[in-house]
Amino acid sequence: MTKKLTFNELNLSKDILKAVADMGFEEASPIQSEAIPVILQGKDIIGQAMTGSGKTAAFGIPVIEAIDPKQRFPQALILCPIRELAIQVAGEINKLSKYKAPLAALPIYGGQPIERQMQALRKGPSIIIGTPGRVLDHINRGTLNLKNIKIAVLDEADEMLDMGFRDDIEAILRNTPTTRQTLLFSATMPAAIIHLARAYLKDPHTIRVAHEKLTVPAIEQIYFEIESFKKLDLFTRLIDLHDPALSIVFCNTKRRVDDLVSDLQARGYAAEAIHGDLTQQKRNKVMERFRRKEVDILVATDVAARGIDVSDVEAVFNFEIPQDEESYVHRIGRTGRAGKSGKAFSLVSGGEMYRFRDIKRYTKAVMTRLPVPSFQEVEEVKINKLLTTIRKVIGEKKLEQYTPVIESLLKDDVTSLDVAATLLKMYMQATTTSKKAARR
Ligand code: AMP
Repeated sequence: MTKKLTFNELNLSKDILKAVADMGFEEASPIQSEAIPVILQGKDIIGQAMTGSGKTAAFGIPVIEAIDPKQRFPQALILCPIRELAIQVAGEINKLSKYKAPLAALPIYGGQPIERQMQALRKGPSIIIGTPGRVLDHINRGTLNLKNIKIAVLDEADEMLDMGFRDDIEAILRNTPTTRQTLLFSATMPAAIIHLARAYLKDPHTIRVAHEKLTVPAIEQIYFEIESFKKLDLFTRLIDLHDPALSIVFCNTKRRVDDLVSDLQARGYAAEAIHGDLTQQKRNKVMERFRRKEVDILVATDVAARGIDVSDVEAVFNFEIPQDEESYVHRIGRTGRAGKSGKAFSLVSGGEMYRFRDIKRYTKAVMTRLPVPSFQEVEEVKINKLLTTIRKVIGEKKLEQYTPVIESLLKDDVTSLDVAATLLKMYMQATTTSKKAARR
């Protein structure tokens, strides 16, 4: 088992724990569990981690712990290859630091007016997150002083070297104290990275999340490539199309779980949340209702779903792709229990593709990519199901109560075909907006 700790086990300050809880993180990801304790001891590290593994918080949390917000000068420097990443990292760090040091992080990157950055730098932000070219520019202008830097982070170091930033990085690091702590994160470890680490890191610890041999349950695994904002729509189509008796849907944070449950309930689905913020009593109640099939969609975080053993779960959905392959295997193992068949569906957005490929590689599982089902396909399936039901009800006779109503309509120059088509249209419209409500 890859080591995974709760945030409480990581010896973090209350301010950070509160921020992490606000962000809805339920437990530390493998890279966080491995890296945070070592960084907090003051050691240099080389971390092999990809985007999506939670690496930003892995270095961001110890960086925030290291700064003193009362000192109005830069104490930590994070170098990133591109401006989008610098902005993203600054955003994540500012969320994590909101109780200890609000707006401690300032992103500086090429393309933004330099005067504005100078003004922001004059306020003395504690954490600078920048692209190498622009950081060097500020150093040369005398608008950024790195003499009090305690921690320097090279994020996506392989990318930075590929982009030709080696000289800039070296020049920047020479402007920081040699007593600094240095953290290097890279998805790959080519020779150039090893050389860079040898030159600028002191006796570094290498942290690579171990990939264990995993036994993947033999269930059908399907995935869709879909933009994030279209996931809800796709998910409801899949539910309508497959109509699984019970499903478990996984999200990566408690907050996302709550949001999805609200969205689903608003659309008329019988969905409930289960995650670590709920009391044991509430969790038991939800699970009881799920077993009794009063709730047929359970939206869960990994931690909350760990003990779940319900035999009729016909489908598992990865609404968000998990941060490591073990969680993936564990999630999909919630279906196909007690010898029953099950399906696992993964909804993969562009940003999650690398992580998903990693999961595919390490699990060696057969995963089939399917096109997103069209609205028409879903309608067709729904109509076919309805026709079967209509045939059954006609077979049962007992329509005396209703036939006079239809007859009264037929007097107004309306055919029975018109009436039937109108009723079908009304039914389809009603079930599109509120599937479950119409069913009851
Ligand atoms: P990163 O690998 O740093 O780009 O992080 C990818 C995403 O995972 C970001 O949206 C983070 O906010 C989120 N994240 C980081 N750590 C955790 C965690 N322990 N649990 C859930 N989500 C996390």
